[in-house]
Amino acid sequence: MYDCIIVGMGPGGMSAGIYAKRSGLNTLLLEKNAPGGLINTTNLVDNYLGFDNITGPDLSFKMFEHVKNNGVEYKIEEVTKIKKEKDTFKIETNKNIYEAKTIILAGGRQPKKMPLEENLKKLSISRCSICDAPLYKEKEVVVIGGGNSAFEEGIYLSDFASTLTIIARSQIKADEELINEAKKI
Ligand SMILES: Cc1cc2nc3c(=O)[nH]c(=O)nc-3n(C[C@H](O)[C@H](O)[C@H](O)COP(=O)(O)OP(=O)(O)OC[C@H]3O[C@@H](n4cnc5c(N)ncnc54)[C@H](O)[C@@H]3O)c2cc1C
Repeated sequence: MYDCIIVGMGPGGMSAGIYAKRSGLNTLLLEKNAPGGLINTTNLVDNYLGFDNITGPDLSFKMFEHVKNNGVEYKIEEVTKIKKEKDTFKIETNKNIYEAKTIILAGGRQPKKMPLEENLKKLSISRCSICDAPLYKEKEVVVIGGGNSAFEEGIYLSDFASTLTIIARSQIKADEELINEAKKI
């Protein structure tokens, strides 16, 4: 029986894991993919306090090292079912069944699909530039969105694509610094 089981090892889950363990709770972290969560999918994280800039995977790695250095138990398993039984929780994964007095859900979010996507099936659509950029070498690439992520990922993709167009449905919300950097490409 664990005191606390945390679902997800993104920045949220890993922080919770460290604090729970340091509070003396018998803690288990569960992650279905790679520790780091969404941060793994971005090339550059700017101005995360303590790092002027660092790649997403490097930051994930440092967070994961922090978790391990604090001796927090973790397992790479997908949580498939959670059931409340009187005062405890039963957590089923693809490999095991665990019991815990408390749970923290830190499973993050799924990327939003565009309403048009069903009609665009013939096009190659990606939600992770760092994972898929090499597939777009010398291709014409369109990035949808007008925020910091769209600009950051667009700048990264420009090293691969033959042309790059950013389309925003309303206004451009990215930081001026990123917009200026994109204009230089
Ligand atoms: C392209 C991009 C660029 C970004 N750039 C920045 C930036 O520069 N600076 C910044 O501060 N933030 C940035 N972000 C946002 C940042 O990544 C998120 O705010 C952060 O990752 C949220 O952390 P989280 O732990 O809540 O969720 P997530 O990172 O989504 O982690 C959730 C974790 O839970 C796991 N999980 C889900 N369901 C289950 C299950 N059933 N069983 C086991 N595990 C499960 C997932 O696999 C995942 O690892 C960026 C995001 C993206 C997509």
